Amino acid sequence: MDYIEVLRRLLSIDTSVPPGSNYDKAIDYLQPLFEEAGFDTRRILIPAEYAEGREGRINLVCHRRAPGRKRLIFYGHIDVVPAEGWDAFQPRVEGGKIYSRGAADMKGSIVALLLALELLKGKPLKYDVSVMITTDEELSQASQLRYLERYLQPVSGAYFLNLDSSFGYVSIVGLGALQVDIKVKGKAVHSALSHLGENAVEKASLLVGALLELKSKVVERKSRVPAYPGTGLDNMEARLNVNVVRGGLKVNIVPDECLVSVDRRLIPEENLEDARKELMDALSSVPGVTWELERVFTIPPVPPCEDPLIDELVDIIKDTTGQGGKFGEMGSGDLAYIVAGWGGKEFGLGAIRPECNIHGREEFVYRQDIEDLAKIIGRFLSC
Ligand SMILES: [Zn+2]
Repeated sequence: MDYIEVLRRLLSIDTSVPPGSNYDKAIDYLQPLFEEAGFDTRRILIPAEYAEGREGRINLVCHRRAPGRKRLIFYGHIDVVPAEGWDAFQPRVEGGKIYSRGAADMKGSIVALLLALELLKGKPLKYDVSVMITTDEELSQASQLRYLERYLQPVSGAYFLNLDSSFGYVSIVGLGALQVDIKVKGKAVHSALSHLGENAVEKASLLVGALLELKSKVVERKSRVPAYPGTGLDNMEARLNVNVVRGGLKVNIVPDECLVSVDRRLIPEENLEDARKELMDALSSVPGVTWELERVFTIPPVPPCEDPLIDELVDIIKDTTGQGGKFGEMGSGDLAYIVAGWGGKEFGLGAIRPECNIHGREEFVYRQDIEDLAKIIGRFLSC
């Protein structure tokens, strides 16, 4: 298989979300490749009610079943974040790197999987293997995953290898997330008559003050799970960031509204209920401010994945690349939480490195990493 050509063609399909176009084209391209690798495949149209009302979400499920063996399900997504200001969908190969939106996050890993599976065609696999290729990961996809469950049975006790991950080590857990939009209310008047109004921006700044006080406590919380060395941290840490403050119309109008968005990330040892209460307590502690929650998005934290199978994978990575280990990811995704609900175990290995600039301009993946990832997956699946 000419994996560079396969990746080049996959990358040239613009699957940006929003809006989430061309998913069908990407699945049309991938489906026969999995068939050629000896898998039974099935296209699945996710009903709009499982995709937050969005239409035309085509997913792909592939199987090489071997009942009685341990169940292993690969996870990947074909959507990418939008790109601006560079030729993101005209892939170029340059000096050991392949540049394009989605090269590292994460079409490169899907192609590495295909490369491994093709080499194993006709040979017995160590596991009862399925592959799920999903959509809308870059938005939120919990309910789509829940819909796919019926096509992946049995999921209880199954291992899920998340290819939407970093290269060179096994990721055993991520952060939970609690994101809230807080709308602060005021009363608009002419700036010169501000004694008759209520300034929502100034009131919001009081809330921000309380949030920053909470932040100083939150960031002190360290997990017992080591963080990937590339992050500059020893262990995973909790986070609280005020990432959006938006309000005000014009310099001479007292503003009647201000939006404050908070992104709280939870280490595995924390739980959502406490984090939410702590956040609400901090906001409520500020007197004289009227606010309401506009939007709340959560991903509950899960415990780290511990299993002999992970140590086996770590050894294969070390053998192939000369380095490795198992670490916690300073990021969050829907998959781990959904898999935990199914009674499965999720862990990750992919082709992302910090310098790959995912979600940024000139995203790239190393050719060597794709080749190594294919080798690692191949050895992991071999009897
Ligand atoms: Zn991704």
